[in-house]
Amino acid sequence: MKFVDEYRNEQEAQQFLQAIHQLVRHPWTLMEVCGGQTHTLIKFGIDQMLPESVRLIHGPGCPVCVTPLVLIDKAIAIARQPNVIFTSFGDMLRVPGSKTDLLQVKAEGADVRMVYSPLDAVKLAQKHPERQIVFFAVGFETTAPGNAMAVWQAQQLGLPNFSILCSHVLVPPAMEAILSSPQNLVQGFLAAGHVNTVMGYWEYEPIAARYQVPIVVTGFEPLDLLQGIYMTLRALEEGRHGVENQYSRSVSRDGNTHAQRLIQQVFTPCDRAWRGIGVIPQSGYRLSEMYTMFDAEQRFAVGDIVTQESPDCIAGQIMQGLKKPHDCQAFGGRCTPEHPLGAPMVSSEGACAAYYQYGRGKKQALTPGPSPTRGEGSLATQAVPLEPSATGS
Ligand code: SF4
Repeated sequence: MKFVDEYRNEQEAQQFLQAIHQLVRHPWTLMEVCGGQTHTLIKFGIDQMLPESVRLIHGPGCPVCVTPLVLIDKAIAIARQPNVIFTSFGDMLRVPGSKTDLLQVKAEGADVRMVYSPLDAVKLAQKHPERQIVFFAVGFETTAPGNAMAVWQAQQLGLPNFSILCSHVLVPPAMEAILSSPQNLVQGFLAAGHVNTVMGYWEYEPIAARYQVPIVVTGFEPLDLLQGIYMTLRALEEGRHGVENQYSRSVSRDGNTHAQRLIQQVFTPCDRAWRGIGVIPQSGYRLSEMYTMFDAEQRFAVGDIVTQESPDCIAGQIMQGLKKPHDCQAFGGRCTPEHPLGAPMVSSEGACAAYYQYGRGKKQALTPGPSPTRGEGSLATQAVPLEPSATGS
């Protein structure tokens, strides 16, 4: 297949659905790791077309959503300083900090700019040597190579006015944290194909063995997801665990070794706090010793910020698969994309935004029952044009 509409072919989708319905004999709970996958599943109504006994729950793979509140507040504090140009992907601009967001700070006069690549921020640093250029480096392993490249390039170009506010997180430690929790519900994972494009999937093999779960590296289009779900369910029904690769058109076991080398040169693993979840050991990156001069947290005095989460927001439980967005009392009322209380309602990869955007309202959730499309759904029923995500996980 060459074109995106081929990955949305309705006839083939029906064949996968039929095969899934014929296959499933037991109740199973699967988690899709990535927020991009969540949006495809909800947008095309795939979760509603599966057998009643198959439950999909949404994972922590939305980089904007897991960025700790304290880092948003630090970003705001840095952006407010004179002589700073603060740059970020678009999604981060509307994520609420304790009191305000970056877009509001921009409206108040700060120089906050949306960029499409961290290398755009490097160019700004070249163009404005008299100003401090800061890039908000957020994301999973997917964005790490680009951010590492920006830092490496800034060093090569000798740009003392460039720095990054780093909030990188890693998928395998988060999967382990979910699987080792006493509250864990997940029996099989759809791993995020773009993360594996960079990192390969060898890291997932010991996790699958330790927790006896199937992990299927899966893409992002409807047919990718249906095939990934089928492969995961087949492994579960056959009592197998291990890693399988649905997204072989992009992912190899070893991944992109050039990108991995660059990441290892610029970053080093560290403990990271995940918003709503807490600190997960060795679950993120910080700049390695050789590159600490590009660390915005060290360059700007923002160490003593204390934050307060909204008591209404249950995003942490949603990202661990323990609750769904419509379980939140604020969903669709006090929390909407126009007035978000938490990051999952803002991000293009947030589960709350997906439920809101595609009409999975509270009323529908509180009166569950077989969907009219369950088992016989059409991919066209909920399809609307895709919008690009600025951040990507
Ligand atoms: S609906 Fe809003 S308040 Fe509730 S969990 Fe989602 S982001 Fe948080």
